[in-house]
Amino acid sequence: GVDISARPLRKRATDRGCVHDRPRVGIMGGTFDPIHNGHLVAASEVAWVYDLDEVIFVPTGRPVFKQNKAVTNPEDRYLMTVIATASNPRFSVSRVDIDRPGITYTIDTLRDIHALRPDAELFFITGADALAEIMKWKDANEMWDLAHFVGVTRPGYSTNLKKLDVPQDAVDVIEIPALAISSTDIRRRSHDGEPVWYLVPDGVVQYISKHGLYASEMQNS
Ligand code: ATP
Repeated sequence: GVDISARPLRKRATDRGCVHDRPRVGIMGGTFDPIHNGHLVAASEVAWVYDLDEVIFVPTGRPVFKQNKAVTNPEDRYLMTVIATASNPRFSVSRVDIDRPGITYTIDTLRDIHALRPDAELFFITGADALAEIMKWKDANEMWDLAHFVGVTRPGYSTNLKKLDVPQDAVDVIEIPALAISSTDIRRRSHDGEPVWYLVPDGVVQYISKHGLYASEMQNS
């Protein structure tokens, strides 16, 4: 096991300047309902610190931990993710989770991306809130062979994680600029007519407005 709380936050840019023998690919999983600047900064920071060649954003199908909540249809979430990431040449979006029937489990995401990119070293990016629950994920002990896990700090959530029963070096936590943005708050603001400018990319503001997302019913409040 690894007591993450006892380890100092990883020093920045430690992997930069090293020669890597395999392409390094980040995976940013999320419901992205909608994608916001907290997600984008997390992906960008991990890409910088770990010297990633690319980051693949993977919108979930039916999220396992949000089954009691209404989630916007996958095509809208997918398109907002494409719009939000389009300007970054290292960012792309994968449909593997939304095209796979049933509930989304990260182990399946990792297997699918590994099958698509067998040459790559994979880095799964996740917030400190989600990382705290990682041992509850399906087939957790099979995940470590497929990817490194990089947790990012998130305002309002502790990174003082309890002892996680994960192999040494399977999980890291890095500190990133604190953005207290959540999809829940973006949905509430959109519903209440409050501004979401600069919390999500401009194109996502416009997409929400054009399609009237979050306007009528209050989701996940
Ligand atoms: P919701 O409010 O609907 O629960 P969310 O804002 O947490 O959504 P998700 O799509 O569920 O967004 O998050 C995907 C991943 O991004 C998760 O691992 C989450 O911890 C992380 N994340 C989300 N917002 C931030 C943020 N502001 N800073 C750091 N990490 C974040």
